[in-house]
Amino acid sequence: MHIHERVDLSSYTTFGIGGTADFFASATSVAELKELLAWARERSLPTTILGGGSNVLIADEGVRGLVIKNDIQGIEWRDVDDEAVRVRVGAGVVFDELVAQSVEKGLWGLENLSAIPGSVGATPIQNIGAYGVEIAEYIEAVEVFDTDAMETLTLTPAQCMFGYRDSLFKKAEGERYVVTHVVYRLSRVPHRVLTYKDLETSFAHAKEAPSLSEIRDAIRTIRKRKFPEWGNGIGTAGSFFKNPIINTEAFEILRTQYPDVPAFPVDADTVKVSLGFILDKVCDVRGYCVADVCTYEHQALVVVTHAGASAADVVAFAKEIAARVHEKTNIAIEWEVTYVS
Ligand code: NAP
Repeated sequence: MHIHERVDLSSYTTFGIGGTADFFASATSVAELKELLAWARERSLPTTILGGGSNVLIADEGVRGLVIKNDIQGIEWRDVDDEAVRVRVGAGVVFDELVAQSVEKGLWGLENLSAIPGSVGATPIQNIGAYGVEIAEYIEAVEVFDTDAMETLTLTPAQCMFGYRDSLFKKAEGERYVVTHVVYRLSRVPHRVLTYKDLETSFAHAKEAPSLSEIRDAIRTIRKRKFPEWGNGIGTAGSFFKNPIINTEAFEILRTQYPDVPAFPVDADTVKVSLGFILDKVCDVRGYCVADVCTYEHQALVVVTHAGASAADVVAFAKEIAARVHEKTNIAIEWEVTYVS
């Protein structure tokens, strides 16, 4: 167990922003995680868990106490029957590596989630989703370490309270849990979800139903076009805000003003609206910059930073964007990115 002092966290996030952790260590097993948590508890230090760092903004002032990078590895495949395969994966595994392996093995389920950055541990926390698929549909169990009881637990999907980019782990009552492993159930039986416009267009002229690897390749191409790659002085955490879900009355008012706004019913009372459209066509902030912080020129939902941007700059920028959306549409938008301080 190596605990380092005063570690710069900026290189552990895709924003490339963030102050210093008082203490920092990696946990490569549940036993190490337990040891580190006990070490912090003995010293009455707060603990913060870091995954792939692709959905966080770390404060310029850094993080007090012990920051633990969740680096638990391992992918275990098990046949359930002729159709289904169960895979138990360590929280520190790069999620796209799992997607690549499942596609290679001819297993259906994760292909629409290709090229999402981040680690497996973040997938149930955020209930990641893209192109009509949410990870919750494929999660059979989430193994966690309960930091209050200091023991491991296995949670069912119902206990995880999955919602739109939301779960138990984002609520106060879920803060005690650290995700250690996720168990997914995949299928050998083809199940194509090609309803999203971008994806539908990719296969509009295909003579046969696309294969798993063709779907993965198409998604990777679409995402490359819309989402920036971090590195070379560009920081990003992908979509910065959630697409808002609003009630039908608010939507009718919005549609009167902006008849083209793309919207999708969630249930009888609520509608999910495209924030990318609102930022671009209603607020005209696609590609808008304040100093070193901008909305991405190809997708306004994505915030990008250039070298020199601070967390405070990003917060101020996000507040300005949210205020503009509210002023034009009366919608209060929420961050998808987690602020860590
Ligand atoms: P998009 O495809 O332009 O979609 C914009 C909005 O319209 C989203 O709210 C999307 O819902 C919804 N939508 C579009 N087509 C739909 C359909 N056929 N049925 C139901 N809802 C539909 O969004 P984008 O920004 O280019 O992103 C592409 C995909 O990647 C989206 O699914 C987005 O949510 C996902 N994404 C996820 C994350 C994440 O999990 N952290 C980050 C970035 C992008 P959904 O949001 O439910 O798909």
